[in-house]
Amino acid sequence: QDSHKYSGIVEDCCCDYETVDSINGAVLNPLLQELVTTPFFRYFKVKLWCDCPFWPDDGMLCQEGKPQGTVDRTLDSKVFRGWVEIDNPWTSDDETDNGEMTYVNLLLNPERYTGYTGPSARRIWDAIYSENCPKYRSGEICQEKKVLYKLISGLHSSISIHIAADYLLDEKTNMWGENLELMYDRILRYPDRVRNLYFTFLFVLRAVTKASDYLDQAEYDSGNHAEDVKAQSLMHQLLNNPKLQAACPLPFDEAKLWQGQNGPELKQQIQNQFKNISALMDCVGCEKCRLWGKLQVLGLGTALNILFSVNSQNDPAQRLQLHRNEVIALVNLLNRLSESIKFVHEKGPLVERLMKDL
Ligand code: FAD
Repeated sequence: QDSHKYSGIVEDCCCDYETVDSINGAVLNPLLQELVTTPFFRYFKVKLWCDCPFWPDDGMLCQEGKPQGTVDRTLDSKVFRGWVEIDNPWTSDDETDNGEMTYVNLLLNPERYTGYTGPSARRIWDAIYSENCPKYRSGEICQEKKVLYKLISGLHSSISIHIAADYLLDEKTNMWGENLELMYDRILRYPDRVRNLYFTFLFVLRAVTKASDYLDQAEYDSGNHAEDVKAQSLMHQLLNNPKLQAACPLPFDEAKLWQGQNGPELKQQIQNQFKNISALMDCVGCEKCRLWGKLQVLGLGTALNILFSVNSQNDPAQRLQLHRNEVIALVNLLNRLSESIKFVHEKGPLVERLMKDL
């Protein structure tokens, strides 16, 4: 991208684009990439089958199309234990352990092109945007509504970037690679989509740093001691990174929100809208997209919960508690966003030049 297009402070945040790129490339991305490969962070518990509460008359719902859209359920040894199960008011997921849940090894199921496209996919995005977070008009005064739109748009950008970064170029020979044209058509042509990606990254990063005491002391117990010590140490390095603290100490300032007279009402309204978005993930028509859709929406819901529902560090009733799955979702979401930012930063200028020359 031209340097002037994405320079200065990321809108509504507290750090600039250049800082995000350099801190992400040098510190955050390498740590996150390693962290998500540890046994604790690579297993996600999810209800995979389609259980869509919307469009009940539609027999086409959740039809699995292409083989690349199916989740690989292979697991190696893993143990889940010891985390408090409490409800997250921002999501509609039932996190209690039951037979409907499947454990998935995320490393075997990278987020990439699945062939899920057409009216079914379009309907989900349309429902998300039109029913739940209508694009804010310029001059919109309600900052909080704008936040929800930008978070969803940023997540959407990140999903599209992963599709472009790992695309099935030739079905016959099963050749995978980058589809830079698609990246341009879906993302780079629209600078606000890139900006929303940076915004979402900083928002989630702020949630992680705000939960730093909790995440630093949490037990990363997968049953594999050496790997769990490694996860703990990587998490500690992520949370206590002097470069991050010096360059971008407050990635997003949540204290500015919900201050108006209608604060509590508005919060409730947006919480309900986010729950609807979470429920829509049950309608996503390809299994692997559903997996990553659910994980990332749970990660966003966890970030919202950390930033907006936990007010007092000192009041024990208000103290932050997270599900194990929420921590896994939050960290994997941050990693996905970090990968997208890195890809846009590294490939963006080249792609824009190529497209201009066409
Ligand atoms: P879409 O991406 O479907 O976009 C629909 C419309 O939304 C666009 O026309 C535009 O008006 C608007 N829009 C697009 N991007 C943004 C943005 N960033 N901000 C604001 N508005 C925007 N496919 C895969 O191959 N792999 C996956 O892992 C995958 N995961 C998915 C997860 C979910 C939750 C959903 C709903 C879909 C997923 N899909 C996945 C499908 C994929 O997102 C696209 O829907 C599909 O590739 C068709 O793309 P499209 O070009 O029609 O535009």
